[in-house]
Amino acid sequence: MELDIGTLRVVFGAVSITLFILFYSVSFRQTGSVFSAWWCAAVAFFLMGSSGYLLDGTVHQIWANPTANTLLVAGTSCVWAGARSLRHVSPAWSQLAVAPVLTLLASVVDDPATNTWSGGPVFLGMMCLTVALASWELWRLPRNYSRVQTPLAVATGCLALLYLGRCLAFVGGGKDGHVFTTYFGSEITALLTLLLLVVVAFSAAALSAEQIASDLRTRASRDVLTGLLNRGGFQDLAEVRMAQLGRTSCPGTLVLADLDHFKAVNDTYGHAAGDAVLKAFATAAHETVRSTDLVARYGGEEFVILLPGASLARTEEITRAISSALRGQASLGEPAMPTVSYGIAAVDTGDYDLDAVIAAADQALYAAKSGGRDRTVRAIRPAGAEPGSAAEAPRSIQNVE
Ligand code: GH3
Ligand code: MG
Ligand code: MG
Repeated sequence: MELDIGTLRVVFGAVSITLFILFYSVSFRQTGSVFSAWWCAAVAFFLMGSSGYLLDGTVHQIWANPTANTLLVAGTSCVWAGARSLRHVSPAWSQLAVAPVLTLLASVVDDPATNTWSGGPVFLGMMCLTVALASWELWRLPRNYSRVQTPLAVATGCLALLYLGRCLAFVGGGKDGHVFTTYFGSEITALLTLLLLVVVAFSAAALSAEQIASDLRTRASRDVLTGLLNRGGFQDLAEVRMAQLGRTSCPGTLVLADLDHFKAVNDTYGHAAGDAVLKAFATAAHETVRSTDLVARYGGEEFVILLPGASLARTEEITRAISSALRGQASLGEPAMPTVSYGIAAVDTGDYDLDAVIAAADQALYAAKSGGRDRTVRAIRPAGAEPGSAAEAPRSIQNVE
């Protein structure tokens, strides 16, 4: 069966236009992500580049052929830039321009008026290099980055190998050599590129959809005012952390914190001042605990902290440190920061049940409030959790050092 390169190019053009329109109107318009912008640019370059070859054999070949080569390499450079953007690294424009500029120079000096393969080896080499760089970037992403990173990396890797083969065959036997025309000719390349374009476009669309989903998940689990986890986000992560603690029989503590007489701050200084106090507490707590601890806004002026590995004594030091950091954030002319009451519960009792630990910490917090506020109270251990512990009295310490 003979494949007709003219027909293949028209099909390639039609598919590229469709992909461009679909990708631009669906993925790019929805996500506005850097990745989808690079991908749109790449498809546009492929489209313009492959159209350029339609002018081969006409008087326009002299400029159209080098331009087409350059545009295709610009397209693969955009694929590389897009892959890099997934790691939030953007290449310098000069870096991106190297491959297209070299291709243009090599094509212009290689008799483009009569030679439809002007600058052939450089063009093929640059296609191979830029696509290989894109594939390398995709392999370097963390393993669990996305479900489509592997198909994308494999597809770009195959394309790079195809261009490597073409480049070597061209250099070895020229454009009319047996290997080049039989295995790496324009027809078979157009067909394979078309298939790979579809694979890459499909994966790229899936990647954009995943980006939206993960963005929404992040937003849904964060508290807008303080930037801390919200209650739902905390619940999800704390369940996982509790299960880990349970598996390793590791101790830990949970803290519920409630700002004292916070309503008075709102009533006296206004809601904006109240918001600033909430943010100040979030900062104080976040900066006091370790990065592996979880801090969340539980609701209103209540916060929850999970401290894996911490003892109750260490937790009391932490609550004192948070209160002292909060006091330190009061600046001249602003309302003094409110004091804070804390209820703390150990998570090593019972069956590492999050709800039970929160309930225990809540009771301790209640005791802290009724005991005069500005203090940390340890939850009473549930009867039977430790021999003789039922008689243990709530232990309360003042937060002031
Ligand atoms: P207590 O010492 O007993 O905890 O007294 P309190 O005044 O802190 O507690 P109360 O439950 O009476 O009041 C909590 C207040 O927190 C009431 C509510 O308007 C305010 N609040 C809840 N969420 C926000 C918020 O996002 N911003 C501001 N500025 N205030 C909030
Ligand atoms: Mg409250
Ligand atoms: Mg309060």
